[in-house]
Amino acid sequence: MESPFGVHRVLEPAGVLPYQAQRLDPLAPLHPHEARIAVEALNLDSASFLQLKQLVHGDLEAVKEQVMGIVAARGKMHNPVTGSGGVLIGNISEVGAARTDLVVGERVITLVSLTTTPLALDSLGDVDAASHQIQAKGTAVLFERSLYGKLPGDLDEKLVLSVLDVCGAPAQAHRLVKPGMRVVILGAGGRSGLLCTWIAAQQVGPEGQVVALEFSQAGLEKLKQVPGTVIIREANATDAVATHRIVGEATGGAYADLVINCVNMPGTEMASILAARSRGMVYFFSMATSFQAAALGAESVGQDVDLLMGNGYAEDHANYALDVVRANPGLAELLG
Ligand code: NAP
Repeated sequence: MESPFGVHRVLEPAGVLPYQAQRLDPLAPLHPHEARIAVEALNLDSASFLQLKQLVHGDLEAVKEQVMGIVAARGKMHNPVTGSGGVLIGNISEVGAARTDLVVGERVITLVSLTTTPLALDSLGDVDAASHQIQAKGTAVLFERSLYGKLPGDLDEKLVLSVLDVCGAPAQAHRLVKPGMRVVILGAGGRSGLLCTWIAAQQVGPEGQVVALEFSQAGLEKLKQVPGTVIIREANATDAVATHRIVGEATGGAYADLVINCVNMPGTEMASILAARSRGMVYFFSMATSFQAAALGAESVGQDVDLLMGNGYAEDHANYALDVVRANPGLAELLG
């Protein structure tokens, strides 16, 4: 029986949701509320891409072999180490009999993670390491409840793919950052980090403060282009003690009302927690976040902060993110 969440395509263990499944069936005939996509490109999420790249010592051909292997084994691009996926782009090739929202030929991007999207790959093409995008040929399935977006004609598709992969972060930053707040962003020079830094700099107002922490020289250079008063500091977020000192100095010992973690590396929970003031909030957008490390780590240093997990979905997140990029060509250039 067809399930709106896709339980009917789970091969093992039967009866669980697609995210929890070891293996999905991407090739079974289409159910009435499903749609099939002829896939053109995958955008792997940053934590997953980095893990695969490190595993094969930077050899991008070997990254492709890893991706082909995972998809063949699981029927989805669900990195077993990071537990994360990404998004994909393609054309609708088949529409279930009961579906009225899509027509064959429409260009779409999945907004639900690749960890829950049935996917079969024929081949992979060029890899763009900077954007974690891989040209691909294959097919994917949208369930009745799968989120997707129709590609807007006015923006570069590569940019859209990059922005929509991380569009939960700017939507949450928009909700959480209030005028007068002191905000610290880790991994601020990456894609989600730049979006959050740009939005925070606009929303904190003259009484507020934004401190952008970044590891790479390229990211630090990009941050200089963000308008507004942004304090930029070089910091390694895996070094909690040094990051604590850097944030203390930048904020005059006040620390942050809100910390946003956009780093793609594991081991950055404590730097984030120690960057917050007592009763502040830490928003972990990073997929490399460990719940145990965050929860037990906060307890271990007696830090009373609210920990917010980075739900990839927020209502209207895709439109919001694309509108921010449209309204700020300078940001589009940094993300492109
Ligand atoms: P990104 O563009 O790769 O940005 C990550 C940034 O963190 C880069 O600038 C990177 O610098 C920097 N960084 C790496 N190691 C660092 C360290 N030790 N200290 C400080 N900064 C460091 O990644 P993204 O696409 O914005 O994604 C960010 C995170 O969000 C990833 O973990 C990704 O998997 C996750 N994500 C979450 C969701 C969700 O729904 N919650 C959805 C999509 C993605 P370098 O350039 O030098 O590496």
